[in-house]
Amino acid sequence: SIAYSNGQFVDLNEPVIPVEERGHQFGDGVYEVIRVYQGKPFMLKEHLERLIRSAQAIKLPIEERLTDYEHLILKGIEKSGLSDCDVYIQITRGISPRNHLFPDVPVSTTMTVKPSKMLNPELREHGVKAIFHPDERWANCYIKSLNLLPNILSKQAAHDAGCFEAILVRDGFVTEGTSSNVFIIQDGKVYTTPLSKQILPGITRMAVKKAAENLDIPFIEEKFTPEQLKQADEVFITSTTSEILPVVHIEGEQIGDGKPGEITKSLYKEFKTFIKSL
Ligand code: PLP
Repeated sequence: SIAYSNGQFVDLNEPVIPVEERGHQFGDGVYEVIRVYQGKPFMLKEHLERLIRSAQAIKLPIEERLTDYEHLILKGIEKSGLSDCDVYIQITRGISPRNHLFPDVPVSTTMTVKPSKMLNPELREHGVKAIFHPDERWANCYIKSLNLLPNILSKQAAHDAGCFEAILVRDGFVTEGTSSNVFIIQDGKVYTTPLSKQILPGITRMAVKKAAENLDIPFIEEKFTPEQLKQADEVFITSTTSEILPVVHIEGEQIGDGKPGEITKSLYKEFKTFIKSL
């Protein structure tokens, strides 16, 4: 594992964040998570584009630095010596005496490169359990912001209920998971929440859309209710670190026959061929 902070590669445990860092004081920043397979970052361009969009949305002027971030990430991977790893990169509004107003200081960049968080293979094989939870987040969930308090509280509520993920519900419809996008399969068709300010445009979601197209499985971007999810044939969630993960129980009730579904499995198989073709 390796870490980076404002120009220097450091040991992961090196104390490098000053108290008056705005990421720490306000959560005033954005981030990305990139999975590296066999030394190659998966969909790096898409992650960098989303990082720039998130930054623009909070008025962090970094669009000209896209290639600098790209080089930094590649250098971090190389320096880590790891081939299967997760890159976390955070950009904040910088270090300045605490004041809500934007300071006139350079942005801060930190990064870690650590071995891939390996999901317990049992979870992938048998599927995971989930709860529903009210979506208590703000109006701009398309920004991958460092403010993750509602996500953390909902994820912990899921964990405390013996579940893997909390599926968030706003105004009677499923939005997404605390750290994942949500999909249901009904009558051979994949449904997922349409992109809007209410959800993060997942990079894995993009890959699933492409996988569905390749397999001629209809991919429908349409809102669905918690009730529709409960009645679905199959349910799965996606994220960079979980990839495609079947959900087989919701609120203590079995989904379908309680086993990972065939369409979910075929999408995952197709997803893995994307990784191999890197
Ligand atoms: N939605 C939220 C709220 C997330 O935090 C994440 C990722 O952590 C996702 C969706 C999935 O996005 P991606 O596939 O880009 O990892």
